[in-house]
Amino acid sequence: MVDPAAADGPRPDVCSTCGSAELTRLPMVLTDGTDVTFVSCHRCERREWLTLGADGSWESLPIEAVIQRSARKPR
Ligand SMILES: [Zn+2]
Repeated sequence: MVDPAAADGPRPDVCSTCGSAELTRLPMVLTDGTDVTFVSCHRCERREWLTLGADGSWESLPIEAVIQRSARKPR
């Protein structure tokens, strides 16, 4: 079975786990200013945060990175 996400990385319109196109997409801006798209799959319930890289390709952001970038940095 071919992984639909393997060829050109994660995409906001297709689930990177099951390949379903039935996704909820929610654009968000993290506290540090990073633009991300929260993707939730209706079929397998995978949740993912994608960010658009400088070269125009999507990157998957680990939950730890999302939490880190959402937190206010203590001074
Ligand atoms: Zn899925």
